[in-house]
Amino acid sequence: MKIHLQSFTCGPFQENGYILFTDSKDAVIIDPGCSTQEEKSMFKDFIVSNELKIHALLSTHCHIDHVMGNAFILENYAIDYYIHELDLPVLHAAERSAQVYGIPGFQVSPLPTKFLNDQQVLTFGDITLKVLFGPGHAPGHVAFYSEENDFVVSGDILFKGSFGRVDLPGGDIETLKHTIHQVMFQLPEQTRVHSGHGPVTTIGEEKKTNYILQF
Ligand SMILES: [Zn+2]
Repeated sequence: MKIHLQSFTCGPFQENGYILFTDSKDAVIIDPGCSTQEEKSMFKDFIVSNELKIHALLSTHCHIDHVMGNAFILENYAIDYYIHELDLPVLHAAERSAQVYGIPGFQVSPLPTKFLNDQQVLTFGDITLKVLFGPGHAPGHVAFYSEENDFVVSGDILFKGSFGRVDLPGGDIETLKHTIHQVMFQLPEQTRVHSGHGPVTTIGEEKKTNYILQF
């Protein structure tokens, strides 16, 4: 089944959140970064105008910019919230981060109702995604892969030309290097990479040009 991706870039960190959906209206939300009324409306209006049935909320990881919209989404849709268990401390730290960065109107994220495991296959109606565990930027970071649709939602593991910072708690450059080489770069070259920040790229392009190759 063809899965469409709609990105929503939000907030002071210009974070990319996603709605994945099919022609049969099945949909999941990944990393909603909406905190202002205008940003929340972008998500809501898209869901309403496309008559989507939202099945789940997924986090690639729980840094503040990726979970800012969680409370809003979970208030509006009675759905399960999925993270990898190793990112639970990161989710707990998000409230403190909101104070440090001075995010106005920050709403604390509800706790997850389900935990993700490496290689787990998630099925939400006609949407199928494989969970790829990829620590280094955050301890419980995962990516969501569709082999059939040739894309991966990479969160902050991999960016076009670059990669996620490793100086936050739980971050580690050697671990991230291992993830990029042994998980991401093992995907087919034509795989489109939808990152947590910045434009779309491909695995093939990053294998040639990414800054991680200099480490
Ligand atoms: Zn992050």
